[in-house]
Amino acid sequence: MKNVVIFGAPGSGKGTQSENIIAKYNFKHFSTGDILRKQIAEGTELGKIAKSFIDEGKLVTDELIINMLDKELESAKGANGVIFDGFPRTYAQAEALKVMLNKRGTDVAVMLNIQVDEPELVNRLLERGKVSGRSDDNMETITKRIKTYNEQTTPVIDFYKKEGTCVDIKGVGSIDDIFASISKAIDSAKEL
Ligand code: AMP
Repeated sequence: MKNVVIFGAPGSGKGTQSENIIAKYNFKHFSTGDILRKQIAEGTELGKIAKSFIDEGKLVTDELIINMLDKELESAKGANGVIFDGFPRTYAQAEALKVMLNKRGTDVAVMLNIQVDEPELVNRLLERGKVSGRSDDNMETITKRIKTYNEQTTPVIDFYKKEGTCVDIKGVGSIDDIFASISKAIDSAKEL
């Protein structure tokens, strides 16, 4: 089994490249953002709490996210691999993911650190906002999300550097070229 963390700032292309990974490797995909948006659409308690954080460009609390993912992971039994998209977003979440996977006899095989500079991120998110209908794809929230990423999420890179599983991916250029680098990293990762 290969567990892949697809990592990067908002707008770095995690969602797009996750679709390519699913098409090629048939891995199971967990996007914490998608799960939260589904909860909001369904009007659940978790959805109501999450909406206030999302619209402010802030992170939902570690406890809520970790519990939510731990439950979702039950559906990954027997999968060839799993893509974690938008998770972990804090150092504590990275530690919790290791515990969750270790207790299931596995671990993260590779962390793909997709690198895109800030002006490009803002452009992409503003473009996406024209069609996505996402309440957080507007200039004010985009600025807050990038700040949150810089302050709270970048320490995750150190976690995976220490683990020896972080691979830097240049996130600008054609989608196909970026995916070629991603495929190479996944193919080189050890099956766990
Ligand atoms: P995304 O679709 O991954 O850009 O996530 C959208 C929003 O959902 C984020 O800006 C956060 O408010 C929230 N969110 C998604 N994943 C997480 C996570 N792992 N930890 C905390 N908040 C999250």
